[in-house]
Amino acid sequence: MALKNLPDVVVVGGGMSGFAAAMAAAGDGRNVVVVDKSPIIGGNATNANVGTICGAYYRAATQLPIAVGYDFCKGFYKKAMQLQGLESPIKYHNGLWVIPYDWAQLQTLLNTEFAKAGITYLPRTQVTGVNIDNNSIESLSLENEEHQFTMVTKAVVDCSGSAVISRLAGLATLTSAQYQAASQVFRVSGVTVSNEFTFDMALKRSTARILVQYTDLPKCFATISVVPGSLRQGVADIKVVLPYAITDESILGELITEQAERWVNILFNRLEKDDGALSGAHLDLIYPSPGIRVVQRAKGMVVLEEYDVLNCLKTDDEIAIGVWPIEEWGSDGRVKMDYFAENESYSIPVGCLLSTEINNLFLGGKNISATTRAIGSARVIGTCLQTGYAAGKLAVCTNDEQRTKCIIELNKELRAKLG
Ligand SMILES: Cc1cc2nc3c(=O)[nH]c(=O)nc-3n(C[C@H](O)[C@H](O)[C@H](O)COP(=O)(O)OP(=O)(O)OC[C@H]3O[C@@H](n4cnc5c(N)ncnc54)[C@H](O)[C@@H]3O)c2cc1C
Repeated sequence: MALKNLPDVVVVGGGMSGFAAAMAAAGDGRNVVVVDKSPIIGGNATNANVGTICGAYYRAATQLPIAVGYDFCKGFYKKAMQLQGLESPIKYHNGLWVIPYDWAQLQTLLNTEFAKAGITYLPRTQVTGVNIDNNSIESLSLENEEHQFTMVTKAVVDCSGSAVISRLAGLATLTSAQYQAASQVFRVSGVTVSNEFTFDMALKRSTARILVQYTDLPKCFATISVVPGSLRQGVADIKVVLPYAITDESILGELITEQAERWVNILFNRLEKDDGALSGAHLDLIYPSPGIRVVQRAKGMVVLEEYDVLNCLKTDDEIAIGVWPIEEWGSDGRVKMDYFAENESYSIPVGCLLSTEINNLFLGGKNISATTRAIGSARVIGTCLQTGYAAGKLAVCTNDEQRTKCIIELNKELRAKLG
């Protein structure tokens, strides 16, 4: 692998947090490389097509939405809305606001931003090893379809969503025996109902009928739903919870992807035959991966906890503002939301992004140091963009003095630019 210059920063994972981390580091004039094992840019946001950006606005039922995060995040929300022809986010429920997006448009946007920023993006490239000397990462071992190679770097941001660097380096991780249920999203066309709420209700009724008729179908399909904002001109994205226990081991195999595809085909065929929401519709696309919500995270200097989230704790070293409730999907397909007050937020302190043992390792997105309950809130895209951005900025600091200054500046920008 011939790179013109050795990277100052390697970002592991080209999901939404990796995108923000790379843009932050490149914005400071650094040479940045992003590696991702997937052929598709965007991580969960595109591969699983989760369909909306959550966690970008304070929860508020009666007021206009107020955005949180860095200028970079707000600029990104504007671009995402423009692509949808929207001037503001859409109302979800209980005062929550979301920005819908189209997965193909999002991929184009991310690729364009990387190209404009001069970021080298290596898809289909997996990190397989970490070479550490004196508490610093010296290089990463990588492999793609053609060869294995080593990449020397000054800093690494782990935005893998699954603590890849910590696992490979034998560092501590935060794990649970079992995690939230996974979901699969698929796209249908030929929908004759034009109102999304009416379509969603009809879909749920139709699914309830076929669950009585076909007892082999998993009961968790009862919570089937339309991805908010996705119904346009007869085309819609639909989400179903999958009947599998998600553990750190289960995500390593391909089994869930194959099984998810099989289930969607069976479900769609039966829904199509029912005289309901999908009668006469077509199954256009099953998105490439099932959406795995949470797996293990890296353990950092500080661990964000459920108490911090639900009590809206604020810290002086805040580098991201969390506004989304703790959202947990059970294996029965039901979602449980634990809210804090409207117009409130909690701090994600910088320690959640810093490795306890490795000086030049930084954590972003779904991989920040947070308990399984706390990441149920901090995993949404709006928060991932903030933690990724902050991790990218921290990764370019070369000494403690620079890092302290960087934290102060990040914190100032977050607090000064609310709105
Ligand atoms: C079903 C579902 C619905 C959701 N709905 C929403 C929603 O509506 N709104 C919202 O805001 N959020 C939603 N989320 C959460 C959100 O999508 C994710 O938490 C967020 O996108 C995570 O971004 P990330 O960059 O941290 O990680 P990811 O998107 O997981 O990206 C990690 C990347 O790292 C790569 N990687 C992993 N291991 C390696 C390796 N060894 N080498 C190289 N690359 C590697 C992966 O291929 C991947 O691309 C949902 C999640 C799920 C699963």
